[in-house]
Amino acid sequence: MPERSWRGPVPARPDVIVVGAGVSGLACAADLTAAGLEVLVLEASDSPGGRMRTDHHDGFLLDRGFQVFNTGYPQVRRRMGGVGPRMHPFTPGVVLATGRGHLRFGAPLPRPSAAATFLRGGLGPLGDVPALGLLSARDALAPASVIKAGPDVTVRRALAEAGISDVLVERFFRPFLSGVFLEPDLATSARVFHLVWRSMLRGSLCLPAGGIGAVPRWLAAGLPEGTVRTGCPVREVTDEGVLTEDGAEIGARIVVVAAEGSAAARLVPGVPSPRTRTVTTYYHASERSPLAEPTLLLDSARHRFLNSCVLSEVAPGYAPPGVALISTSVLGEDRPGREAELRAALGDAYGVDASAWEALRAVTVRGALPAMEPPQPLGRTTRVSPGRYVCGDHRATGSVQGAMASGARAAREVLVDVARAAGLLPARR
Ligand SMILES: Cc1cc2nc3c(=O)[nH]c(=O)nc-3n(C[C@H](O)[C@H](O)[C@H](O)COP(=O)(O)OP(=O)(O)OC[C@H]3O[C@@H](n4cnc5c(N)ncnc54)[C@H](O)[C@@H]3O)c2cc1C
Repeated sequence: MPERSWRGPVPARPDVIVVGAGVSGLACAADLTAAGLEVLVLEASDSPGGRMRTDHHDGFLLDRGFQVFNTGYPQVRRRMGGVGPRMHPFTPGVVLATGRGHLRFGAPLPRPSAAATFLRGGLGPLGDVPALGLLSARDALAPASVIKAGPDVTVRRALAEAGISDVLVERFFRPFLSGVFLEPDLATSARVFHLVWRSMLRGSLCLPAGGIGAVPRWLAAGLPEGTVRTGCPVREVTDEGVLTEDGAEIGARIVVVAAEGSAAARLVPGVPSPRTRTVTTYYHASERSPLAEPTLLLDSARHRFLNSCVLSEVAPGYAPPGVALISTSVLGEDRPGREAELRAALGDAYGVDASAWEALRAVTVRGALPAMEPPQPLGRTTRVSPGRYVCGDHRATGSVQGAMASGARAAREVLVDVARAAGLLPARR
């Protein structure tokens, strides 16, 4: 789709104002415009995307924090199945840096090759193979409603209850899931884990050819011209609509706040500000690719980083021709000396000399994900008061799926309330 200008005159009185053009606000706006409402999306920053943005830097595409795109998410299938931006898949499974070399850990289904991997790599006792197979089969095949209705405990406890050994937890699950949930203790909700694991088994992990920001750009480009306005921070949600930072009042009967949790809490009294996770992604350039495969590398033995990946092996457009772009994420903030320590760890984990790698940028994202500890509600109503709604990943799960599902729910609740107000549906009791 052609690039689009996000500026211009604002409609006098749209049916709905959506505050925030992350994937949640964009999904909500898509569903409302499809239902025939006039929607205005007001975005504070200079481009749509929220936490899914990509910067151009000397011929490299640098995402604002490493993230992967999961084609197995139901909302992704619904909105982008077969039509979204061009995707490049990762090879299934991951590569584990074991301290004694690399071990390929594939799709977790019970197969003879899985048993061989366990034996060769000392990943855990052989009993882990059927335990992992059973857990994966259940997550892949059972209806999502069964997972959602299950009791909620921590991921650590759920893995133990599924019969997974401590060895496999330490060598695979803890390094892998620390990078997914951005916390090192497996303290996240097991329900969220099972849903994410299910999507990974049913889909594939990809990177868009144009960087992760291509996803929200594609969603925004599908909205009617003039729907999204950038550089338009909202200061206040008022009885009449919204007041922008530059003092303009825009009226609308319905306002959906699709800002991240802390901003939503400022704009809407009574909405809690979630605890969040912070992550830093380091980008390095190298003349040679340290791993000629589109895969994730986990520091299985020493846990010095969450995950690393040669982005240009996955999607060649991430780097200029002949240069490899490596992304590596760690929990918390950047600090003096951290890049040098990390580069030494990367040289060790990839098994290469990384001393000549060029440090391109460190990107710290505070509030990257909401903490999702049990008991974690998987979807909350978006209604906060008559005509006022709040959606976003902090109202569902911290993921593209959670954000879009919450946006979709806001649109459904708006449409039901509009139909009730028009007498087309019975009033709520
Ligand atoms: C580093 C990182 C890695 C991740 N990895 C993955 C992953 O691998 N897989 C996955 O599924 N998810 C991942 N996520 C999570 C996923 O990106 C988010 O869950 C999702 O993008 C959240 O979308 P959202 O619309 O709810 O919120 P946001 O994207 O935060 O959008 C909110 C928008 O509201 C705007 N806004 C705020 N206040 C105002 C205001 N007052 N006026 C106007 N606009 C305002 C903001 O500028 C922003 O654009 C990752 C996130 C990060 C940061």
